[in-house]
Amino acid sequence: MTALAALAVAAVAAPKAEKFVAPEVLAEADRVWRLGEQGDASEAARQGDALVRAADALRDVDRLEEAREYYRRAGLVRPWDFATKLRQADTLLRLGDSAGAREVAAPVARYVETDAELAECRRFTGAAEPAGLPRLADAPPAADEVVIALVATPTTERWLVQTVGRALAAQLGARVTLAGTDWAIGKADRTGRVFLANELRRTLPWDDPRMGLVRLNGEKFKPENLNADQVIELMRTLLTREANAKGLETLAARVAAADKVLQWSGPGLLPRLQADFPPPAQGRVVYLALLPVDLYAGRSNFVFGSAAGEGGYAVVSYHRFAAATTGEPPRSERLAERTMKQLLSSLGFALGVPRCADPGCARSYPHSLAEHDAKGTGLCATCRAGLARALGHELPAAQ
Ligand SMILES: [Zn+2]
Repeated sequence: MTALAALAVAAVAAPKAEKFVAPEVLAEADRVWRLGEQGDASEAARQGDALVRAADALRDVDRLEEAREYYRRAGLVRPWDFATKLRQADTLLRLGDSAGAREVAAPVARYVETDAELAECRRFTGAAEPAGLPRLADAPPAADEVVIALVATPTTERWLVQTVGRALAAQLGARVTLAGTDWAIGKADRTGRVFLANELRRTLPWDDPRMGLVRLNGEKFKPENLNADQVIELMRTLLTREANAKGLETLAARVAAADKVLQWSGPGLLPRLQADFPPPAQGRVVYLALLPVDLYAGRSNFVFGSAAGEGGYAVVSYHRFAAATTGEPPRSERLAERTMKQLLSSLGFALGVPRCADPGCARSYPHSLAEHDAKGTGLCATCRAGLARALGHELPAAQ
């Protein structure tokens, strides 16, 4: 064959190159797998990406039988890598092994915290979508009834709304309904710039005489009067005067990161909730908005919820309870439990039940997520009595 003819053959064969898995990808995966086999599970887990890469590469070129084995190995090394497990289940399904796909996806379905992942799991487990809560519009309160109505935003996880809704109904013996699923909370009230500015306030050389020469917008300034943007601007001005290129670059990166942190004012959302969900013609409705976004109030850096005292309205955030925020491995049951405690707490305030001092009670004040987790899920006798009075009926016996 002439050189030219060889080139022509290569050109024709070119599309097949897409179906190629580099041998070093598989060699690397095999090396990591051997690490685990030799007893170094921690190192194998640390380098587990190599197994995932090999499995994905094989799956991409339809070498599914081989992909199956590499996914199996990846699953053993990294049992908490749910995204990979779902690709493993998909591979098994494509191989006709629906029982295997179900076996891989079923434990994932018990742990994931998002609707999207749950829907993906259901493709393999065949589980039915859980029934939604009854809609408030279909079942308004009777004349002497107090109904709890959950309000969701378009991005609130629906499974969480349904799970806590059912749990609330069981614990309180009250009807829990869904008032809306597309509540619009508008733009964030502030960004992480407030936290960045607080840090900068501590590092700025306020007592340095040269600070007296700095002008902001041509004005002399009083440190206590500066808002977050002005503190950041002051730092930028100082770094510019010092020609500190590295410092300016770091500051720009920190500002960019701060702008990605969004917070809504809990007390600020309450009047909007009130306006969008007016009281019913008869009976009483307590509106509880369940939000995926972070909330703050007053001087607090964050709050888990805000309620209008006796007003029948509360907003609750599960942002700081979710694995996506805490960095914990996902566990839907933990997320639902944390959210329930806060809903009970805020619901009580919305109904005029005072704060609780019993650390074991779901309604006691947590200063941190750790304290929130340490609380029980049940209600103390005082809170049970207070909620019973407010709801107009005895609560079911505690489980
Ligand atoms: Zn209590």
